[in-house]
Amino acid sequence: MKSENVLLIFRSNIMYKPLIYRLSKDFDIIFNILEAKILPRREGRILLELRGEEDQLLKGVTFLEENRVVVEHLSDKVWREEDLCVHCGACTGLCPTGALSLVRPKMEVVFDVNKCVACGMCGLACPFGAMKDITLFDPFAEGRTVN
Ligand code: SF4
Ligand code: SF4
Repeated sequence: MKSENVLLIFRSNIMYKPLIYRLSKDFDIIFNILEAKILPRREGRILLELRGEEDQLLKGVTFLEENRVVVEHLSDKVWREEDLCVHCGACTGLCPTGALSLVRPKMEVVFDVNKCVACGMCGLACPFGAMKDITLFDPFAEGRTVN
C-alpha cells in the first residue's frame, strides 16, 4: 500500500463529473479530501491523499488525466534541500501532519513528502531556507493558471 498527496484541478467543463468517486469504485483507491476550493462554473481544486496499491494508483491517476483533470503531485512541487537542513527541529512542532518529524536517538529531522499538504508553515519557520518551494507553491492561489 502506497500513499501520495495530489492536487487535482478541474476545469468548468468537467468539474461536476463524478471522477473522484470512480477512483474508489474502479481502482480500489482510498481517498481523503485534505482541502478543496470550488469556483462555481469556473474551476475546482481539490487536495487529496490517495492510498492504494502502486499499480492501481498509477491507473487511477492516468484515468483522471485521460478525463482532462490536471494532476499535480506534491512530491514534484515541494522538497527539502538536504544540504541546507541542519536538523534543528524548528519546523517539526509546526508541521500539522507529521511530515517533518524528529527521529530519536539520532536526532534527525526526516521529511516524508507523502504526508505533506503544502501548508507552508515549515517554509516560514525554517531559518535556513531548506524547505523548497513550499512558500511559493500555494495550491489554491488566485490566478494560478492551469497548464
Ligand atoms: S527548520 Fe529547516 S533546518 Fe531546521 S530541521 Fe526544519 S528543515 Fe531542517
Ligand atoms: S508544508 Fe511543511 S509544515 Fe506543511 S505539511 Fe508540508 S512539511 Fe508539514
